[in-house]
Amino acid sequence: MALVLGVAWSMLPCPGAATAPPLTTNELDPPLTVAPAQPLASPPVAPSQLTQPPPATVVTNRDPLPQRPTGELFPLWPTNTLLETQVPLRDWADYYALPAPRRIGEFPQPTYEVRAGGGRALLRIGSPRATIRGVDVLLTHVPQLLGGQPVLHRLDLQKSLHPLLWVDDAAPLLTTNRIIVIDAGHGGKDVGTGTGDGRHFEKTYTLDWALRLRPLLERQGLQVVMTRTNDVEVPLAHRVFIAEEAGAALFISLHFNSAQPVPSRKGLETYALTPPGMPSTFVRDGEDNPRLAFPNNAHDRENLQLAWRIHRAVLNTTHATDRGVQRARFLGVLRGQGRPAVLVEGGYLSNPEESRRIADPQYRQRLAEGVADAVRELVRAPLVRASAATPPEGPAKKTSPPAQ
Ligand SMILES: [Zn+2]
Repeated sequence: MALVLGVAWSMLPCPGAATAPPLTTNELDPPLTVAPAQPLASPPVAPSQLTQPPPATVVTNRDPLPQRPTGELFPLWPTNTLLETQVPLRDWADYYALPAPRRIGEFPQPTYEVRAGGGRALLRIGSPRATIRGVDVLLTHVPQLLGGQPVLHRLDLQKSLHPLLWVDDAAPLLTTNRIIVIDAGHGGKDVGTGTGDGRHFEKTYTLDWALRLRPLLERQGLQVVMTRTNDVEVPLAHRVFIAEEAGAALFISLHFNSAQPVPSRKGLETYALTPPGMPSTFVRDGEDNPRLAFPNNAHDRENLQLAWRIHRAVLNTTHATDRGVQRARFLGVLRGQGRPAVLVEGGYLSNPEESRRIADPQYRQRLAEGVADAVRELVRAPLVRASAATPPEGPAKKTSPPAQ
């Protein structure tokens, strides 16, 4: 499945890819020197395993989900079982004493609803596109029916569903440290992508978006650090360094997209770094090694929650097409970040209609207001929020005796 997904998404153009003028390759840089790729702590996966679909290993009631002894929602097993196991949604819901998954639709795919943490997720059999609390999120493995029961990959449960279903219980990101870095993509000779007529460049619009966002955040009492405030080229590694030097709590990178020769494609995409072990939902040049872990992977949960909040808020202010919260591993500006970090692709300059909207200063103001709205939720978040919706520490109830 991983291979199928990887191939499918690798056919798509890359976020921020330039068409005319030529592609700038900053985002293709090898891992940053401040962000060396580290092998996973668990034994490496043999290449042959990475190119094979995961076996349909099903955890049944006779093989109950293990308790989480170390604060993880699921313990990280010392074998590659973590990479291979599909979990029946019924067992997962039972484990957390949640309502049973409901089949609520048949077309175009059988669709299941799960409810938890005051929110709900819609999972579509055979489709990576899930809808979690009203926002599309691309899963890294598609839900399947096995033995007539919907199953989801354990990593998607742990790394995609849990952080967002229980997003209201997340620790606030902006409490004592209220320094936030706004990164206007590209600049100087690196023009980014451009409009179809070649008259406007991504670098100009990202800077305008960032300059509009800065005062909105400052009004919230935040200290805003910009990676650039004029038309200069800033290497990706230096953008990471700026955030490090500032001791920033959050990093938000602003970009626009291009999809030549698919001018019909339009909409908002928000990216978080792919967690180790998972395939990316967006792959550039077929390069996506799930065995790699980067410093920013220490913030996988917060990355996704931040991406989801920004994505939802910008959709609200712009009414753009929802192309989903996505995962990518090649984004050098995210890999080395020692703090929650996301990259927002504010629309497709290659789409004539969306390009016209982006050219309108009022639309770029709404883009800025969307990001500011999402950040405001983090500033206002209470220091401690106790909720009965938090996943319990262990099995809520036993459904069967442990396997003998
Ligand atoms: Zn870009």
